Amino acid sequence: MSAISSRPLIAILGSTGVGKSKLAVELAHSLSRKLLNGVEPWSGAEVINADSMQVYRGLDIITNKISEDEKQGVPHHLIGFKDVGEQYVVHEWIRDAVPLIERAHREHRVPLVVGGTTYWIQHLLFPDRLATSGTETTTVAPSDALVKALKSLQPEQTRLFDSLPNIVPESAAALELHGLLTALDPVTAARWHWKDVRKVLRSLGVIKEHNRLASELFEAQSMQQLTPRYRTLLFWLNASPDTLHPRLDERIAQMVKNGLLDEIQTMRKAADHLSGPVDYTQGIFQAIGYKEFSDYLDDPQRTPHLFDEAMESMRASTRKYAQRQIKWITNKLLPVLPLAGQDAAMVVLDASDLDSWDAEVKERAQSALQCPFLQGAAIGPDASSASMAHYLSAARPARTPIETLAAMRKTTCQLCTKDPLEPVMFDEAQWDKHRSTRQHKRALRRQQNEKRLQMYRRSKTDGSDPVVTHYAGSSEDENADDGVLHGDGDGKSAAIG
Ligand SMILES: [Zn+2]
Repeated sequence: MSAISSRPLIAILGSTGVGKSKLAVELAHSLSRKLLNGVEPWSGAEVINADSMQVYRGLDIITNKISEDEKQGVPHHLIGFKDVGEQYVVHEWIRDAVPLIERAHREHRVPLVVGGTTYWIQHLLFPDRLATSGTETTTVAPSDALVKALKSLQPEQTRLFDSLPNIVPESAAALELHGLLTALDPVTAARWHWKDVRKVLRSLGVIKEHNRLASELFEAQSMQQLTPRYRTLLFWLNASPDTLHPRLDERIAQMVKNGLLDEIQTMRKAADHLSGPVDYTQGIFQAIGYKEFSDYLDDPQRTPHLFDEAMESMRASTRKYAQRQIKWITNKLLPVLPLAGQDAAMVVLDASDLDSWDAEVKERAQSALQCPFLQGAAIGPDASSASMAHYLSAARPARTPIETLAAMRKTTCQLCTKDPLEPVMFDEAQWDKHRSTRQHKRALRRQQNEKRLQMYRRSKTDGSDPVVTHYAGSSEDENADDGVLHGDGDGKSAAIG
């Protein structure tokens, strides 16, 4: 185990409005006031924000930022330092968070990573080994499989691989790039539609950077244990929907009282100075409330009816967001945690009843911290709470990367492909659905009619009975029986050329 990965990290995650920031400050105080036994040499904690909206400057209400009072002197990092219109994505956050975590370790303070963007936390813990940096130079010798694949390339494919475009090229080059990936690494190519140029290019970039087929890298990963970047104790703060939803509604009402609409107006003014229309899926403009109140604020009358609609829409969006956050934890994070073995454990804390917060949340979290985890001992499943077992058994088992590849296999329908430069491609799992589409049935009938015509012509020349004429009447019937239509070769072919 490396020196870095033996250092501890505490992560507090969960849906919006569940009390993550409050627990973080409470734990930081427990650590700094040495209220807990056996936590030496650690003294105090620092909070590193993992909420993608709270990185924006100002806009404290719409992003539900913790106030200076609520921080109670605990240092908080990566909050409020980006401007409206700026983007800030997972790789940038990790680049900024890692030095802060390492500095906290050096100064004997426990890093507390706190926020609702679980995606960020997961990538911090389990770095994506397939990520291309674009700048690294390859030092490993190419694998045998890659050498063999490179030899099989056509000269123009070799030229294309040697000078991969840096930007996404015109659509004409898309099929050539997919063809190149198919020639090099058919397993990986089968995963992408030829129109997924960005992803095809990325796979080719991965091959080039690692000197391995992308499928070889996947296979290697499938067999590996996941080693988290730090020994991590995760607290999942959870509340039942019937207790959380009224709290979220109440918070929205409070946000409006505190001046939410003024903040949205400020954002709208800032948006006017940006080039192009506002993209609600980018940066701060994803903050719930901005889009929901746009109709109301656009309307010169600003009627109470429009206001009520905006409020209802904001309540609905907030609930949906909370559901998505929980889904990420149960579907994406929980399945991989067991692969981390003794280096990660999760404790689920029930924050449903705010009246029993101290007993159910604060004290349970404090006692979990007194396990030998902070002294450098392995943690692992034993540290996880009993309720965790329930969630783990309900979670989908982790798919290996190879299983993921298989599940994403694409296939080409030769029947529906009219132009070989524009193959009709879709997920293999969609084959049955595709077969019942009007487009495919029509293509199948066209092919069958041609076959009958050929048979008929042949029968004319060799004098045998022209059987095919019996079918002629049904050929234009849209609702012709499936059994007749799909009795033989129905056009399916593997995406691998
Ligand atoms: Zn088809």
